[in-house]
Amino acid sequence: VKLVRFGDKGAEKPGIVDANGAVRDASGEVEDYGPETISPELLDRLRRLDVSRLPRVEAGVRLGPPIARTGHFIAIGLNYEDHAREAGMAIPNEPIIFSKAPSSLSGPNDDIVLPKGSEKGDWELELGIVIGRRGSYIDRAEAFDYVFGYCLANDVSERALQLEGTGQWIKGKSAETFGPLGPWLVTPDEIPDPQNLDMWLEVSGERMQSGNTKTMIFPCDELVSFCSQVMVLEPGDVIITGTPPGVGLGKKPAPRFLKPGDTIVATIQGLGEQRQTVVAYPG
Ligand code: ZN
Repeated sequence: VKLVRFGDKGAEKPGIVDANGAVRDASGEVEDYGPETISPELLDRLRRLDVSRLPRVEAGVRLGPPIARTGHFIAIGLNYEDHAREAGMAIPNEPIIFSKAPSSLSGPNDDIVLPKGSEKGDWELELGIVIGRRGSYIDRAEAFDYVFGYCLANDVSERALQLEGTGQWIKGKSAETFGPLGPWLVTPDEIPDPQNLDMWLEVSGERMQSGNTKTMIFPCDELVSFCSQVMVLEPGDVIITGTPPGVGLGKKPAPRFLKPGDTIVATIQGLGEQRQTVVAYPG
């Protein structure tokens, strides 16, 4: 099942993608997709639903992030061996966890707004995991029982804010629009093996990232288990799992950072496509 949230920013409604790729309005079935509503039971109910009975939504409607009111927006650093190398960092012995502000979440095709004065905006194509059940100290063998679904993510970053001051990476990862998520939240029955998904990202027509989730250092089940050792995971939490090589910071001979007018196209096999335009901070 492919879940979406559609409509104006802040007023999105829940929807389901039908067999023809059209969005159907599911607001008569569930209030929203968020911490209060998502559960294994909801997943079962949605799976049994006759989607063709639901009202069809006009084509071209704006999509929001497919999950609402995320509590924890967790990211994993340097989780692809060759990306760690291009960043000039050691291969980590355990997952590197950092946070993005949940208020950075945005729709898959919304503009990316560079922060005031930004000159080092960057992209990171990533597989996102949405948690469906509350849990702590989750065994790796049971980790997939806690996964509600998967989605495409761009861990948009500002490298000066992330790396050049003091403090934590969260500073360079949290601006409004720095967390495009979606288009779809895809339930696990459609993604039988999250560790074998092709992925790529282009900036203004140039292929920057090509990879496959099979080259992750720490796979999804280990990440869910690991994160649950350090905090209680809750429904609606999002874990983005690290990026393959090809970010702007690692470009040779010189870094390639985002500038207003750049366009980004990103995809992961089975999870749809994102298209963003980069704009300067207004005013
Ligand atoms: Zn990242």
